[in-house]
Amino acid sequence: MTEIDNKEQQLLNDIEKLRSTLAVAHQPKDILATQLFNSEERFARAMRNSRDGLWDWDLVTNEVYYSPRWKSMLGYAEHELENNLDTWTKLVHPEDKEFVLINVQKYLSQEQDSFEVEMRMIHKEGHEVYVRSRAFKVTQGSSSKPIRLTGTHVNITDQKKAELFDKRNTKILEMIAKGKPASEIYNEIALLYEERHAGLRCSMLELEGDKLLHGGAPSLPKSYCKAVHGLKNGPEVGSCGTSTYTGKRVLVENIETDPKWADLKEVALPHGMRCCWSEPIKNSHGKVLGAFGMYYDQPRLPNEKESKDLTSAAQLAGIVMEREQNQKRIRDLAYTDNLTHLSSRTLFYLNVDELIKISARKKQKFGLLYIDLDNFKSVNDSLGHSAGDILLIEVAKRLSKACRDIDYIARLSGDEFCIAVNDVKDDYGAAHVAKRCLSLISKPLELGGRNFTPSCSIGIAHYPDDGSDRQTILKVADTALYEAKELGKNRYTFYKKELSQKAEYRFKIEQYLKEAIEKQQLSLVYQPKIDINTGIIIGVEALSRWDHPMLGQVNPSEFIETAEQIGMMKGHTEWVLKTACQQLALWKKDGFSPIRMAVNISPHHFLDRDLVPLIQGVINESGIMPSELELEVTEGIVQINQKNHLLFEQLKELGILLAIDDFGIGYSSLASLKHLNVDFLKIDKYFINDMLADPKAKLLVGSMIDIGHNLGHKITAEGIESEQQLSMLQDLGCDCAQGYLISKPVCADRILALYGSSLLN
Ligand code: C2E
Ligand code: MG
Ligand code: MG
Repeated sequence: MTEIDNKEQQLLNDIEKLRSTLAVAHQPKDILATQLFNSEERFARAMRNSRDGLWDWDLVTNEVYYSPRWKSMLGYAEHELENNLDTWTKLVHPEDKEFVLINVQKYLSQEQDSFEVEMRMIHKEGHEVYVRSRAFKVTQGSSSKPIRLTGTHVNITDQKKAELFDKRNTKILEMIAKGKPASEIYNEIALLYEERHAGLRCSMLELEGDKLLHGGAPSLPKSYCKAVHGLKNGPEVGSCGTSTYTGKRVLVENIETDPKWADLKEVALPHGMRCCWSEPIKNSHGKVLGAFGMYYDQPRLPNEKESKDLTSAAQLAGIVMEREQNQKRIRDLAYTDNLTHLSSRTLFYLNVDELIKISARKKQKFGLLYIDLDNFKSVNDSLGHSAGDILLIEVAKRLSKACRDIDYIARLSGDEFCIAVNDVKDDYGAAHVAKRCLSLISKPLELGGRNFTPSCSIGIAHYPDDGSDRQTILKVADTALYEAKELGKNRYTFYKKELSQKAEYRFKIEQYLKEAIEKQQLSLVYQPKIDINTGIIIGVEALSRWDHPMLGQVNPSEFIETAEQIGMMKGHTEWVLKTACQQLALWKKDGFSPIRMAVNISPHHFLDRDLVPLIQGVINESGIMPSELELEVTEGIVQINQKNHLLFEQLKELGILLAIDDFGIGYSSLASLKHLNVDFLKIDKYFINDMLADPKAKLLVGSMIDIGHNLGHKITAEGIESEQQLSMLQDLGCDCAQGYLISKPVCADRILALYGSSLLN
């Protein structure tokens, strides 16, 4: 016996005791019986036309009279129920029994003045009937002792259901507002309508493409839901498959005979489903999102109320489905990279976190590849952003091909990609994927109308050897990537502990450089450029230097690149331009003329709109002639790009000189030079270095000089370190020379000493 049963039994015993005490006190029985019979008769007559059920419990004999209406309210005929308390105990809802009995007891023991309860009774057909039961005590003569309890049953099912419907409706709206999971809300919606119509079973299906997906159906068997999940909709696919296809309501009166159910009835009939009405669920723009289905165990069509409810149920489910779809879109936006359709950084992080958990549990190793395209910035700067986008899309495709299905791939940002190589036994697993990436990426493609061969660098780190959490693994893989770049790009590098120290140093540079640029703690040195034939200084190149109290002399290439990365280059260039031009003005005042000041402009800054007004301002402020200022830009910038040409033109209109720095090592073609109005080509040190030993390099230098001349450019050779190099360049007809042989970069005062005489011995 359960605890509840015990309690109920106790209550019944208590009532029984009370009842027998009362019965004994009210003897003699025959007088009593006559009186009772008379009053019962009167009462029954009074109640005959009432819609209420009547009950009368004789506390003396323990007989209970149930009126025909009382019985029919629960679906029984007069003779089907016995007139005793057992009948009630069997028909009352088990969850309500105890509380009703407590109220009876309280009323009989005068603890309570009245008796009125609402309870659920079970109908003959199994559904619940809500009943309001009121009773009053009948006492004998002037005595206050009750001898019977007489009462009524009023069927309040409709009212109660309406109240419950409202309550559940409010709950559903609250769930929608609170963003509860759609599956939970679908179940609530189904229950809402199932409670309203006895015997009804509901389902909600979502439409994805042309497939029906299970949404919610708490009262339908799992096997049925499973059979429908993934079904393709069509003009004759059950009720919901058809309604989602046509966008119109489909009422199937008999599943067994309707042709639309021919292929599906085998999964429905065994579960008692005999009819199915389906309403398409639509969003606010009328697009079909799914279907709401109503099932009964008998073949029939909906009545007016059911028909209305089918409409409102589909509308309610529509609110949830539309919200769900919007959220899915938002999730997709957050989790997928719009350009390449790879996972976004957000999703990748989630995946790596999960991978760490799984790998820790299974004691597995995984590799993380941090991939960065080589020289991507130049592609963007020279060929434009749309070409850059095309390259990124192609790279994403190639990288996806390089990894296995079980690996995670994502685009983290810009030209940075990551691959988590799942379950590797040794370093070989990740290296194998890295090799495939390098080889697939370096296949040529057409970009901006020209043949282009991309390449990438890859840093590899392993869980758990190199780090046990996501942040560390990513950081060390990035450190290894940096090393791969430093080693000459187009390669992969494994993370090693020493790399962290290097990274630490870079981090420090980043930290201190910001302050140094803001506080203008950098200085300039000047490297002379001479007329290759006379040896006389014709100009200088301003080069930045940074001597940090703790870091010492920091390599310019390193801090210039860092300044670019942290977005400090613009401010720094402004300072270099001002300082260099002021210096030139000072030298001129000392009679140091004619001489040119060359300033390096980083490719990125070169394309900045503010550069032209900045230069104009600096020239005006310092009072130098525009033709005394020379800007050096690297080759990447001179690629065929309308915008870049325009900028060149605007700068030229100011009257300044332009030089292409590091000429020959980028991937600009000589042909592109014909569009450009530059004054100097600075042949890169790389060719000058090789010129003596390698006849091909010499040939190339000679050709560059000739072609440059033919196109109207003057030629400077940089990085000259030996007499032989110098004389060879003289022979080849080069115009200007720069290099350690002539002078290393020196401070402003030293330039004064070099002025006027030939720097060639
Ligand atoms: P760059 O513009 O090509 O400058 C020439 C570099 O070659 C300078 O290095 C110079 O010191 C070095 N050099 C000159 N002659 C010789 C030689 O005979 N042998 C050798 N081994 N090296 C020689 P530095 O000063 O280290 O600068 C490196 C690069 O950093 C520069 O290359 C330039 O691209 C960049 N840079 C330096 N200062 C600035 C600046 O103020 N702004 C910008 N945007 N870039 C700068
Ligand atoms: Mg330069
Ligand atoms: Mg250079």
